[in-house]
Formats: sequence, C-alpha cells, structure tokens
Amino acid sequence: MRTNMHNMATTHPHLLRWFASPNPRMVLLKLLPLIALYGYFLIKPNFPFWSIPVYFGLGIITWSFFEYATHRWVYHIHFKNKKLKWLLEAFHLYHHHNLKDYRVLNAGFLLIYPIAISFWLVVFLFTGQAYTASLFGLGTLTYYFFYENVHYYIHYKKYDKGYMHMIQKYHLYHHYKKWNVNYGNTVTVWDRLLGTYDNGYKDLTLSANESKDFIRYKQSSKL
Ligand SMILES: [Zn+2]
Ligand SMILES: [Zn+2]
Repeated sequence: MRTNMHNMATTHPHLLRWFASPNPRMVLLKLLPLIALYGYFLIKPNFPFWSIPVYFGLGIITWSFFEYATHRWVYHIHFKNKKLKWLLEAFHLYHHHNLKDYRVLNAGFLLIYPIAISFWLVVFLFTGQAYTASLFGLGTLTYYFFYENVHYYIHYKKYDKGYMHMIQKYHLYHHYKKWNVNYGNTVTVWDRLLGTYDNGYKDLTLSANESKDFIRYKQSSKL
C-alpha cells in the first residue's frame, strides 16, 4: 500500500460516507429516491411506446461510454489543482494502489446525485420532456448499478468462466499490467473503438489466495 497519497481517503476518511459506498447494496439504497422520482415522471404522460426502449437504451449506451470516458480522461489524470486532486485521487488512483480497500470501490451520494441529475437535465433541455429524461435516467441508473456490481465483485471473488471471468481478467490486466489500456469495466467495445484495447489480458492467469488478493503481477510503477 502506498502511504504517501494525499487525498480524501487518507486525510478525511469520514467524508467517504458521502462520496463512496461500502458495497453495491448501499448504492442501490441510495439510488431508490432517484428511481422513485424518475418513476413519478412516468406515471402521467401517455408517451409513445417506442420511446421506452429508445430512451432507456440511449441511457444504457451513454452510461457505458461515460464509464469508459471517466476512467480514461478523469480518473487517471494527475490534476494540478490541489483540491481536485485531493477529491478525485481518493477514488480510482487510490483504488489502483489499495485494491483491497473496498471503501472507495462504489460511489456515494455526492458523486451519484450530481452526475445523475446532470444527465437528466441535459436530456430534459434537449427534448423538453420530463418522461424522456426519466426513461434515459432509468437507463443510466440501471447500467450504473450493473457497473458497480461488476467492478465490486471482480475485486471481491475469483471467477472461472463466463462474462465475469472475461471482464475480471480484462480489468485486472488494466490494474496489474498496463494502466493505460482496457479502461472498460463492463464492456470492451469503447476500448476497441478508441484504440485502447489490448488483448494481452487473455493470457492473464488469476490466482486467489486466502486474502482474496488476485495479484500475480507487480503493480505498474507509472501510476
Ligand atoms: Zn478496479
Ligand atoms: Zn484505472
């Protein structure tokens, strides 16, 4: 573990209750008021049926790209601004150096709500309809919750087959071998489209010991 990191997780860990969640179940609990609010906007309008898969699907696609983009262009940047650095490095970069610290794996109120509400507002401003923004919002929240589960469990237990095995190797390759490839935490498509896909992950061998630590390779010193 690196001890010289100066960020919220190391200097003000009590704030993590607002910015992070200890597991995906707590994330779901925090999402419930938003889900209820979006549901409320869907009660009245007699919107066309086609808009359900379209806006919900757009929300899913948008979140999967947002997940990639945040990981690549926000979480891995070493910001000069001290406050920004203190805030943002508490999450992903801290996670890179402290893989067994589950406190920072999932987001909390003060990360989820500003982002979710911004998405809702953007779609509302574009379409002028609360129901489209809410369908889109439900798509983003659904995919976001899926992402939180995937990222949590690939660091929590070892998978031997199927999608979870593939995405576990894909993500752990990012952690242990090359931090500047394979940014997707749930899908590989954005890495393939944007030139950061590395299929070397297929050769990664995972090992689980008693401490649930899958380290087979030393962490990159570039971080
Ligand atoms: Zn991770
Ligand atoms: Zn990363």
